Amino acid sequence: MDYISHFQIQFAKVFDLPFAFSFWKARVALYAILKAMGIGGGDEVILPGYTCVMDVNPIKYLGAKPVYVDIEPQTYNIDPSLIEEKITTKTRLIIAQHTYGYPCDLDRIFEIAARHNVPVIEDCCLSLGSRYKGRMVGTFGKAAYFSFQWNKPFTTGLGGMAVTGDGQLAERLEQLCRQLVQPSVKDKLMLTAQLAVYRAFIYPRTTALAQSLFRFLTKKGVVVGSSSTAEYVPTMAKDFFKAMSGVQARSGLRQLKKLSAGIEHRKTMAKLYDTLLSEIGYKPVRLDEQIYDPVLVRYPIRVRDKEKALHDAAAAGVELGSWFECPLHPIETPLEKYDYTLGQCPQAEKASREVVNLPLHPRAGENTVRRTVKFIQNYL
Ligand SMILES: *Cc1c(COP(=O)(O)O)cnc(C)c1O
Repeated sequence: MDYISHFQIQFAKVFDLPFAFSFWKARVALYAILKAMGIGGGDEVILPGYTCVMDVNPIKYLGAKPVYVDIEPQTYNIDPSLIEEKITTKTRLIIAQHTYGYPCDLDRIFEIAARHNVPVIEDCCLSLGSRYKGRMVGTFGKAAYFSFQWNKPFTTGLGGMAVTGDGQLAERLEQLCRQLVQPSVKDKLMLTAQLAVYRAFIYPRTTALAQSLFRFLTKKGVVVGSSSTAEYVPTMAKDFFKAMSGVQARSGLRQLKKLSAGIEHRKTMAKLYDTLLSEIGYKPVRLDEQIYDPVLVRYPIRVRDKEKALHDAAAAGVELGSWFECPLHPIETPLEKYDYTLGQCPQAEKASREVVNLPLHPRAGENTVRRTVKFIQNYL
């Protein structure tokens, strides 16, 4: 069997779901799901106003309208108490994004969705392995999608997957997948180069450097970074609907073998952050353990002067993440073109100004965590 089919089968198994479809990136997976659900012109899609603009693009590509809901300040997830007022006769979908790996308040979201007969899908780009009431996130919605881009919980350089337990939706996804364009030789070469850079540079002390290098080169059109300049406009590029390549699938299969170890590592390091931060008087996020069992992608934390913290961290070789930098990350986004008006989601905007995130990836061990806390304590 080829790597792609094999990876899809193995990935679906992680969730005990029957169907998984792989793509070049998560945004392509989302586009496929939306299209398979028949979402199009005039339809409204509800999502948190604290997301990645690449999540909004597919909605716009299909002529639908993104409707933003503000977030809960603690988990950075969509605030269920604000969803209902945004539902109209045109609402066709709610996207439950598990931000940073914190599961959404799924019971309340599904209760509202059921009352209005609106389906829910899950954005699991930042959550792989998180559980809600003992069950993996990604198995609650009509479908879910995952990103394997390099700073996500699980990485193949670039990559995305859609999963579903719905046979009818799977059939439509399968049909759509026949129209995928194959990655070009250039795409594959650039991807390989990117994986090499990732392996060489993404260590806690050098990440800031690699990050700016990726962004710079990508803007110059050199490296296949996560987003090219052409993707900051709500119009679909000709070769957007792209398949996953064998290189990615092969890497994914290797990563899957390390999945449980990766999850354990993230949980252990997050606990260590909790402990060390408590010791210096910072109150870590506390969620009801009977319900929420998060696997965080990065450890979010609010700081006093975000810009200074990021600047100083880069100089000190401490790996601080800046996302989300604005309600529709990254900062380059022309918000008005995405139907977002400043002031619309005050909690999301406040979080964008205050939150940085600390490393939890496999290369960030106990020493990195201690060093990071030591650095960040001056900014809390
Ligand atoms: C990264 C991310 C995406 C997009 O993933 P790609 O694989 O880069 O397309 C979408 N949503 C969220 C919440 C993300 O963090």
